[in-house]
Amino acid sequence: MSDATSPSARGTREPGTGVLTSHDLGARARELLRSHPVVVEAGRRFTEAGHELALVGGPVRDALLGRPGVDLDLTTSARPDDIERVLAGWADTTWDVGREFGTIGARIGDDVLEITTYRSDEYESGSRKPTVAFGDDLRGDLARRDFTVNALAVRLPDGEVVDEFDGVADLARGVLRTPIEPEVSFGDDPLRMMRGARFVSQLGFALDETARAAMIDLVDRIEIVSAERVRDELSKLLCGADPVAGLRVLVDTGLAERVLPELPALLLERDEHHRHKDVYEHSLTVLEQAIALEGRLERAPDLTIRLAALLHDIGKPRTRRFESGGRVTFHHHDVVGAKMTRKRMRALRFSNDLVEDVAKLVELHLRFHGYGEGQWTDSAVRRYVRDAGDQLERLHILTRADSTTRNQRKAQRLQRTYDELEARIAVLAEQEELDAMRPDLDGNQIMAALDIGPGREVGEAYRFLLELRMDRGPLGEELATEALRSWWNAR
Ligand code: ATP
Ligand code: MG
Repeated sequence: MSDATSPSARGTREPGTGVLTSHDLGARARELLRSHPVVVEAGRRFTEAGHELALVGGPVRDALLGRPGVDLDLTTSARPDDIERVLAGWADTTWDVGREFGTIGARIGDDVLEITTYRSDEYESGSRKPTVAFGDDLRGDLARRDFTVNALAVRLPDGEVVDEFDGVADLARGVLRTPIEPEVSFGDDPLRMMRGARFVSQLGFALDETARAAMIDLVDRIEIVSAERVRDELSKLLCGADPVAGLRVLVDTGLAERVLPELPALLLERDEHHRHKDVYEHSLTVLEQAIALEGRLERAPDLTIRLAALLHDIGKPRTRRFESGGRVTFHHHDVVGAKMTRKRMRALRFSNDLVEDVAKLVELHLRFHGYGEGQWTDSAVRRYVRDAGDQLERLHILTRADSTTRNQRKAQRLQRTYDELEARIAVLAEQEELDAMRPDLDGNQIMAALDIGPGREVGEAYRFLLELRMDRGPLGEELATEALRSWWNAR
């Protein structure tokens, strides 16, 4: 990955916007306001009440990049009580996003606004939560933001773009730079280092060299940040457009050593015979290949498959054995890896469901390799399906993605064998649906409906109802009884 100070990145190439003329800038800001009239109205109301209001951060950045934005984040000179006073009688509902942080949420029609009082937050040394001081001007608020591209604002209601820290230029170059000295900024809130890696993944931007150097210097400070905040940034990084680039930032700066040490641990020194591949690079490739297969899922990006792909081999360093003849083995790295996955994901406070889903995928990622040339019995195939449970589709993706051989023929053979396994699963599933099919009435109900005792006729009636069920699908008790009686009478 090129860094921000290399000549190619200093020019005007993507992944930034290229050049942004002041004409483009004005047009995109106006477009942002046109598509969200509610913020203009909010601007009018705040101004009338004697306060300043501006769109800030994500929505401004994304609008100037020409990307669809998600949230409407606003910043204001008004204190939380005043924010509520202005919103009262206009917003449908308001709520505290975090009063101590000065953020009020508001829903107006279909729009959701998050309005935060100007602030300047700092960690007290050793504390896990930022202490917050409210500020009085927009510039001060913008100075406290993480990166210059997030420190852009659009004043409301008039739409003036406020660019105090050359964020527009950084947006154009695709560079992440802190508005103030990075040591001070990252020292105040070390989570900003994680956010830097996150935006590398989400925006395809490069970290400015001074920011990167500060990250390396201050990497230990990440320890004071709560696991939940780290988890949220890691999740966003993984679900970004280029998670591999973001992960490399984490590993290269040493952040990963603190928040996800299992990842740099994959950088095994290779044995002198080069009998096994670099597990770290392999894992990143599997992640990319899994992402390429996400189309098979209902929704993408999919955090579960991305975590599973990244972590599937974390049991390898601990299980590596050098056998005689230069052979290397990793026995039970699937089981060990699943345990390590649970431990790390729990420490990062991921939800129990997500932890179990990812751990299951890690544990099952090798199972297919016992399939050989297709020698599994039907019952082995059924067990595979049962053990995967609701993770079956993801297991298909992970197993296919876990082939990074350069040998084309070998790769194709693996994919074909897996096609075959999937086909067998489909056939078995269909058969089992048929096997499970029952008529709408059971023997006792048939005897009651026809007022007959046990005998040959009950079997005949049963077969009639089964045929009916196959032809017409489930009918329910009443209709089935009616149909049974008319069949009986016509007989
Ligand atoms: P997205 O909402 O797409 O994840 P975003 O840039 O809006 O991206 P948020 O986490 O919603 O990110 O934060 C909103 C804005 O608040 C950011 O754009 C940034 O200006 C500022 N911000 C958020 N977290 C921090 C932080 N830890 N330090 C400094 N500024 C921050
Ligand atoms: Mg946001």
